[in-house]
Amino acid sequence: MNITVIGTGYVGLVSGICYAELGHRVVCVDKDLAKVETLQNGGIPIYEPGLQELSVKNMAAGRLSFTGDLRDAVGQSEFVIIAVGTPSLPNGEANLAYIDGAAIEIAEAMNGYKIIAVKSTVPVGTNERVAKLIRSRTPERFDSISLPEFLREGSAVQDTMHPDRIVIGADSDAAAETLKQLHLPLTDNIVVTDIRSAEMLKYASNAFLATKISFINEIANICEKVGADVTRVAEGMGFDKRIGHAFLKAGIGYGGSCFPKDTRALIQIAGNVDYEFKLLRAVVEVNQDQRMSVIRKLESIFDGELQGKTIAIWGVAFKPNTDDVRESPALEIIQYLIRSGAHVKAYDPIAMRNFRTMYGDNGVMWCDEALEAAAGADALCLLTEWEEFVRTDLGQLQTILRKPILIDGRNVFKEADVAETSFIYYSIGRPRLN
Ligand code: NAD
Repeated sequence: MNITVIGTGYVGLVSGICYAELGHRVVCVDKDLAKVETLQNGGIPIYEPGLQELSVKNMAAGRLSFTGDLRDAVGQSEFVIIAVGTPSLPNGEANLAYIDGAAIEIAEAMNGYKIIAVKSTVPVGTNERVAKLIRSRTPERFDSISLPEFLREGSAVQDTMHPDRIVIGADSDAAAETLKQLHLPLTDNIVVTDIRSAEMLKYASNAFLATKISFINEIANICEKVGADVTRVAEGMGFDKRIGHAFLKAGIGYGGSCFPKDTRALIQIAGNVDYEFKLLRAVVEVNQDQRMSVIRKLESIFDGELQGKTIAIWGVAFKPNTDDVRESPALEIIQYLIRSGAHVKAYDPIAMRNFRTMYGDNGVMWCDEALEAAAGADALCLLTEWEEFVRTDLGQLQTILRKPILIDGRNVFKEADVAETSFIYYSIGRPRLN
């Protein structure tokens, strides 16, 4: 198939490259010409394991190209995918400006029948809105498809090549069948449904996962007060097949470019039809508060006085294996510390550049190595569970800090390993050690 993917972010780029890997001819379009140039030169503007090798391989095979010329790309394709961003508006609703912009450009480039799919996460009714925008500008025939994306940053290639399911929302049987055939090499779990249900399904999935996280974080907070260990609680719960182990890891809460914005958007989608999604409101509130659990622990250690203390931060990405720092819990924690007069030394193996570009330096001392950030600090807070941190030699680490205080915001260290050190160790929902 000849495919155009509009938007070369985490979703569009990975999808486009993976469709090429399946043997299709793919043109990826972005209006950010610096990104296009990087891609044309064999580079990858995001950090995503395995992506660059696949890109270079498929470009060399003549199946994959990158351009800023949407009209030319769409003109050559029978399948067009919209994968642009849908960030939050100040009221929490999804901002559809990029979707509308792409739809209008597609309309102007139409030169025959095409299937037009929205892969971005969009409120119910958006595919109809896209179809209307196109229909009012061109007499050419097309079918609309909702094709929500479920990949996770950090394992996006693996998730795309081996998805748990593919969801196709369509009102044309023929177009649904074409897309079903396209995706059958990836999985047999293909859910074909109406467009509105497909749009809803994506938000419902993310809201459910966010709910699991906030649920276990509340259990963790209670565990701390009653002297239980949330990791053992979650382990035992997870063996129940109705519950499962996934997303039952207590920590400092979810962040990133999806869960925070999609939970807010679903609350708004419900509100727009006069339904108050009380459960999801609580999920969001719990998540917001959970970030502050690190701060509460620091304040209790230092009797509420963070002024003049040096606090080391390990990890500013919202999760490991990504350079994405959108809505990372680290931002609020760092900002709070700086406002409180603390000196912050921070290190992240991959995401520091993005963090500084997006949020500025914030008065933080950025370090080139993990141990450099920890050196001389009054306490160390681990905020992202990068493998590099998990493998740390705790014995060496404790000699580098001014005070051996470790706040493990992701519960990565084993009690037995910590017990061999003199660390005063706080984690989330587990008993304090030493
Ligand atoms: P992103 O912000 O990383 O990338 C969007 C890209 O689209 C940018 O490069 C931008 O320049 C480009 N763009 C915008 N308008 C354009 C236009 N008219 N023509 C050409 N290019 C245009 O976004 P993302 O993280 O890839 O997310 C895209 C969508 O997928 C969002 O709706 C998101 O909610 C959803 N989603 C994201 C993930 C994820 O893990 N990031 C997972 C599932 C779904």
